[in-house]
Amino acid sequence: MMNLLYEGKAKQLYSCEEPDKVYVHYKNSATAFNGIKKEEFEKKGVLNNTITSLIFNYLENAGVRTHFIEKVNDTDQICQHVTIIPLEVIIRNIVAGSMAKKYGLPEGQVLAKPVFELSYKNDALGDPLINDDHAVALHIVTEDELAFIKFQALRINMLLQEFFLKANLTLVDFKIEFGKTKNNQIILADEISPDTCRLWEVGTQEKFDKDRFRRDLGGVMEAYEEVLRRLTHE
Ligand code: UDP
Repeated sequence: MMNLLYEGKAKQLYSCEEPDKVYVHYKNSATAFNGIKKEEFEKKGVLNNTITSLIFNYLENAGVRTHFIEKVNDTDQICQHVTIIPLEVIIRNIVAGSMAKKYGLPEGQVLAKPVFELSYKNDALGDPLINDDHAVALHIVTEDELAFIKFQALRINMLLQEFFLKANLTLVDFKIEFGKTKNNQIILADEISPDTCRLWEVGTQEKFDKDRFRRDLGGVMEAYEEVLRRLTHE
């Protein structure tokens, strides 16, 4: 018998017999705008579990420590039990989404260098944007932990850019989260999927990510399916 430890918008976390592990179930619900827009997609759990497993496997093989242990079935994986650091770590290579809006920039503008951005993970506050000093001053992370997180995030960006480019997709931006193990090690956690990345087709700039849902462009699951197909067959 597994106990539900936590239920988020896209996943459920259950306890495992081994206390160091958690059982992660990927749900079919899609949400946007802090939960205001909602829809169920039949294949979403399977697709995001499969894509995340593939990506975390790739990152582990490239030497990035993650919480991922194994994919156990279509919708579920076993991960290391970590305490999530309440930061949404965002890396941007190209202007899109909230960055375009906030600074009045055209979507698609290539940035002179990757932008490392932090939001304080708090649904009630709408995940407000914070800077490095806020993160340290508010005791969310230490200076050293933040330096490590930034280094890892930029390294993950390089690895993912290369990975997606092989599938003819440009990694525009993405969000990651880190967790702390009981030995106080910081490792990559949560998921990496078309829910958490912006992926544009090289050349056409066609969207293959959650913006299809956010902006009512249709073909949401078809796009996620195509991402998976390209990551596995090309
Ligand atoms: N993102 C995410 N979860 C969030 C907010 C953002 O996964 O709660 C991802 C989003 O998919 C995009 C990147 O982080 O790849 C940057 O998102 P942005 O700040 O532009 O916000 P959005 O326009 O997605 O609200």
